[in-house]
Amino acid sequence: MLGVVNLTVRYPLEMGTTACYSRRSATSGSIDFNVGQLGLRWFDTIGVTQDELMIHEVAHHRAANHYSEELHEACCELGAKLKQLAMEQPEKMTGSAKSSNEDQ
Ligand SMILES: [Zn+2]
Repeated sequence: MLGVVNLTVRYPLEMGTTACYSRRSATSGSIDFNVGQLGLRWFDTIGVTQDELMIHEVAHHRAANHYSEELHEACCELGAKLKQLAMEQPEKMTGSAKSSNEDQ
């Protein structure tokens, strides 16, 4: 999505923010998740909270500035594409992590 075909994910125990996206090229980037802040259990669930952070971070592939129209549009585009994928290919929405709905 947004042209990212090669995404590296790292899990540092300490960093100055919850998560951080770094654009490497037009088609690659990396996301650091602050495990010390999020906690390991955060990664056990695929839910709205996790989707919000992923959408926000991947949207930074298009724009770094939080106040830019490009970042806002990228967040909207990713959210809409995520919904479309869930509707058209629900089998791709499952994984090893449990859904947050299973906890309710
Ligand atoms: Zn951000």
